[in-house]
Amino acid sequence: FDLKNADLKNLAELGQGNGGSVMKVEHVPTGTIMAKKIVLIDAKPSVRKQILRELQIMHDCKSKFIVSSYGAFLAEPNICICMEFMDKGSFDGIYKKIGPIDIEVVGMLALAVLEGLTYLYDVHRIIHRDIKPSNILCNSQGEVKLCDFGVSGELINSIANTFVGTSVYMSPERIQGAEYSVKSDVWSLGISLIELALGRFPFSDAGSDDEDTSDLESSSEHHKTAMNRDSLIAIERAEKTAKRHNRRRSKGVSLHGGGMMMSIIELMHQIVKEPAPRLSPEGRFPKEAEEFVNACLLKDPEERKTPGVLLAYSWMKTSRTSTFDLKEWASTF
Ligand code: ATP
Ligand code: MG
Repeated sequence: FDLKNADLKNLAELGQGNGGSVMKVEHVPTGTIMAKKIVLIDAKPSVRKQILRELQIMHDCKSKFIVSSYGAFLAEPNICICMEFMDKGSFDGIYKKIGPIDIEVVGMLALAVLEGLTYLYDVHRIIHRDIKPSNILCNSQGEVKLCDFGVSGELINSIANTFVGTSVYMSPERIQGAEYSVKSDVWSLGISLIELALGRFPFSDAGSDDEDTSDLESSSEHHKTAMNRDSLIAIERAEKTAKRHNRRRSKGVSLHGGGMMMSIIELMHQIVKEPAPRLSPEGRFPKEAEEFVNACLLKDPEERKTPGVLLAYSWMKTSRTSTFDLKEWASTF
């Protein structure tokens, strides 16, 4: 494909994230339906070219657990990334529409995510960096695939405010400034699995829904001593974004959609200091699911399991041999 905007007809808006928006488009010359991600980047021409080069790696990612890419192009001041259109959307949208996801489906999703992570890492040495329900997609074939993985270091650097969007799934060690590892993705998977199985974000809501961000500011003051420089930069960015959102919506610090989420600082503090969330209440879910999620959410990254080890867990064996029909399931919504 030689992709350019002139050949792409907008059909619908699929969603908006912190980095940009995603449109359902038709590539008119070929009649191909695609998802076009538009990312506003604030970068020099040389950096933009570098980003495009890096995005080429996406093209080489060929796995049934990874959303395939048609290519990327510059449309100043944006970068557009055209990818496979997944007609059932992302799992955050799915559970918000149909409620908590059947644990059998969650197990099969966990298996697909692990297979995708293993492929990215073993074949391309790529760490995903942004595992969360909105980056796990589903189609009416019942296929589950990952999108939005960190192929481009320069793109990651150039997207303003990626922090707010990703932080709630961030591992304790990342919050404290450690480098990303494939185990950070495993943590994010564990949080996502609980969110999907319970039908709500697993951290408790201890925050405020105030009209201004003064509490956010004072709490970051409070934790400044405990956090390192990276975290502080991230917090400052988050505060700026929160303020901007407030101005736009004048509805409080809505960091996770509903407006009931605790402030990001408190949440980060909780992730680092408190015991990890679990599949609860105990006994509601199969033992092997509990065991798997607990292994994803070991707070010490040394102890936490790698995708390769997790693939051998009994819940994954069960999921691999499950006769549950995901295609049939996907036809119900
Ligand atoms: P964030 O910006 O915090 O990462 P996000 O993942 O929701 O959040 P985007 O990546 O911009 O933001 O995606 C917006 C929405 O577009 C997603 O929630 C998803 O529902 C939809 N979407 C993204 N890619 C595709 C695709 N290939 N096919 C179908 N829908 C998609
Ligand atoms: Mg996304």
